[in-house]
Amino acid sequence: MTDTQMVKKLVALEPDLDILNIEEAKIKEKISKVIHVSNGKKRVRCIYYNKYTRNVHDKLKPITIKYLDIAGYTTYLKVYKRRFNCSNCSKMFTEENFINGNKKILMDLREYNLSLTYIAEHNNVSDNTIRNVLKKYMKNYPRHIRTLPSVVSFDEFICRESKIEEMIEASNTIDNWLPYIVNSFIDKRLTNGFTEGLNNKIKVIKRIGFGYKTFSFFRLRLLYILNSKKMKNSI
Ligand SMILES: [Zn+2]
Repeated sequence: MTDTQMVKKLVALEPDLDILNIEEAKIKEKISKVIHVSNGKKRVRCIYYNKYTRNVHDKLKPITIKYLDIAGYTTYLKVYKRRFNCSNCSKMFTEENFINGNKKILMDLREYNLSLTYIAEHNNVSDNTIRNVLKKYMKNYPRHIRTLPSVVSFDEFICRESKIEEMIEASNTIDNWLPYIVNSFIDKRLTNGFTEGLNNKIKVIKRIGFGYKTFSFFRLRLLYILNSKKMKNSI
């Protein structure tokens, strides 16, 4: 891995970005890191007719975006966008935004020991933005399970305490059939390790994230943390 690739990975920048320069600068009385970036793609789609063109007209003055806090420094991106003169329709257009600020946020949200407030502070955005990023990302997450997963984790104690009729019933069924269920496992597949591990993780997430105003969002974060690596559009 080259140094530039390493930097990109570290600060969650897209691999096809070009890092032009990294410098220190005093911004708002604080020594900050400034990363100059441009789109590394040679050709882009014309916004009018959707065909590719490579015909760069000029570079615009950079836009400064407050980015992440990295190793105690606030980082800024200086983004250089290009204007193209389409080789097909001869119209002039500016290339679209190529910075995906959500990538780092989604990476942070996956860490179960980071609170929403912490993630918001370190990405220089509000708590609300963090919530919206996750909601948007999880929009297509199925509401119901259609096929059984490889591990079924069931905590009969919590089930009884839940006072949810279906859960209690399921718990009783398992109790009634327990010897038969146990007999069907000839190897070490029957273990409470997974369930206990899961319970612990959930408790840590709950304890660290004081910021959960609603159960539905707490559930969303849990589902994301526990499933994100298996998700189709995994980051
Ligand atoms: Zn065009």
